[in-house]
Amino acid sequence: MIHYTCDGCGRTIDSCNEMRHVVRVEVYAALDPSEDELDDDRDHLQEIQDLLERLDDDEDSLGQEVYHQQRYDLCGECRRRYVKNPLGRLAPEHFGFSQN
Ligand SMILES: [Zn+2]
Repeated sequence: MIHYTCDGCGRTIDSCNEMRHVVRVEVYAALDPSEDELDDDRDHLQEIQDLLERLDDDEDSLGQEVYHQQRYDLCGECRRRYVKNPLGRLAPEHFGFSQN
C-alpha cells in the first residue's frame, strides 16, 4: 500500500479512505516580446528550453527563476484551503483591490 504525505499539513493521506489531490505549480519567466520583435510564431517555451540548456550547470539558481515546476500532494482539507487562497501569504488581505 502506498502512503502519501500531505504537503500542506504533513499528515499521511490514506489513499484508500480519502481523496488525494495533486497540485502542479508551474512558474516561468513571461519573456514578453518587445514591440519591434512582436511575432506570434515565436515559441516562448522553446526559448525557455534553450535558455535552460545553456544554464544547465547553474540549474539551482538562475534556472529556477526562469522555469520552476513543483508538484504537491494535498489532503482534502488542505486542498480546500489552497483553492481558496492559492498564493497564501503572498496575498494578504490588506493587499486587496477594495480601496478603489
Ligand atoms: Zn493536509
